[in-house]
Amino acid sequence: MSYRTEEVAYVQPAQPAGAAQAAQQQRSTAEYRALDAAHHIHPFSDMGSLNRSGSRVIVKAQGVYLWDSDGNKIIDGMAGLWCVNVGYGRKELADAAYRQMQELPFYNTFFKTTHPPVIELSALLAELAPEPFNHFFYCNSGSEGNDTVLRIVHQYWATQGKHSKKFVISRKNGYHGSTIAGGTLGGMGYMHEQMPSKVENIVHIDQPYFFGEAEGNLTPEEFALARAQQLEAKILEIGADNVAAFIGEPFQGAGGVIFPASTYWPEIQRICRKYDILLVADEVIGGFGRTGEWFAHQHFGFEPDLITLAKGLTSGYVPMGAVGLHDRVAKAIIENGDFNHGLTYSGHPVAAAVAVANLKLLRDDKIVERVKTDTGPYFQKKLRDTFANHPIIGEISGAGLVAGLQLAEDPKARKRFANGGEVGTICRDFCFNGNLIMRATGDRMLLSPPLVINKLEIDEIVAKAKYAIDATAQQLGIS
Ligand SMILES: *Cc1c(COP(=O)(O)O)cnc(C)c1O
Repeated sequence: MSYRTEEVAYVQPAQPAGAAQAAQQQRSTAEYRALDAAHHIHPFSDMGSLNRSGSRVIVKAQGVYLWDSDGNKIIDGMAGLWCVNVGYGRKELADAAYRQMQELPFYNTFFKTTHPPVIELSALLAELAPEPFNHFFYCNSGSEGNDTVLRIVHQYWATQGKHSKKFVISRKNGYHGSTIAGGTLGGMGYMHEQMPSKVENIVHIDQPYFFGEAEGNLTPEEFALARAQQLEAKILEIGADNVAAFIGEPFQGAGGVIFPASTYWPEIQRICRKYDILLVADEVIGGFGRTGEWFAHQHFGFEPDLITLAKGLTSGYVPMGAVGLHDRVAKAIIENGDFNHGLTYSGHPVAAAVAVANLKLLRDDKIVERVKTDTGPYFQKKLRDTFANHPIIGEISGAGLVAGLQLAEDPKARKRFANGGEVGTICRDFCFNGNLIMRATGDRMLLSPPLVINKLEIDEIVAKAKYAIDATAQQLGIS
């Protein structure tokens, strides 16, 4: 289960910053924990167990580092939650928010009004996104982005007079957020179990997870092709006249940084075109430089009709999501009367101003280019060199500054641990204690550091990851 919290025993090496840090804090760690336990319900958490062990209290951050309330300095291998692409403490973003709050803290964009920040952001996104993406709709999160996608998809087919096109095909172990629509689109069984009422007409096909699910002697390319062809089979089963769209993350993020082989996306695109089905790329993690391209669909070489954006759009400094519309979809939406969807904070001026400052930093400091040509290749090679022939590493997936490390009982035989989630949790706790944030999804360890990370910091992450994975192997008695 992807976000679950487990009890963690803290090791507390005193850091030099500790005393000064504690002096600025309003309360002691114990007080924070007691109040947190008394009043705060965390997302995706077992609150009983969390309250007994106590949360880690993060009090400040700079660059790629976090500090907790005990003064521990922690390297953030996850960029917060896949979002802090420009790193922590960027004054440009803080200044943009401060200026905008003084100038115009809020105005809506509903009733024939607009404002400079949302105009600047839209023009900038059109410049940065691939050629056919020139129109953007705004919301506050990735989940709302995917809710918006459904609204656009259905409106689009209504404008084409194809009212029977209602089904949306998604994938098992995909993640598309946690609103009712986002959770239904996603393929996380444990989320579906807690949603007795789901959005109608959403069905799932299997994921392109080679290490875990390929049988026999299929090559990764053959396997990925077979998984893509499940889309065609599903369309034929439902009837092409009834299928509106296919949605997928170019690489699955929360599902374990699963990178499909190069045969996958071209085949998905071919099938979508053949049966006249909209292709949606959920770029919430992949967007804004993660793979070394501005958007992950560019890395995989396909052209979606809609893209969902969030996380890296503002580097997480304030909440914002968006949907980018391909010209042919935008044209249909624009020329066919009212589009009956909006959020109070669609295009919020402060969020838009922060997004503009963030995107200009990514562009003008050449951060995305550096991920592509320098830090990304360095990170990927370092991981592969460090874990080549490691006794419990079965696969390393990724590109740019995102990676998934498959823990496996027998790497050569592609045999996973029977109790995979438990092994991931053991490893995650060693990371935590070693002051590295590395996430565990089942038995895959995930890294997605801020895009501004330098090589020394990459070395530190990989060394700490190695320590945690070695310690895990040792605890399991594997060497
Ligand atoms: C995080 C995520 C979402 C949901 O975004 P929220 O801002 O948490 O609602 C949607 N899709 C993908 C691929 C994500 O990683």
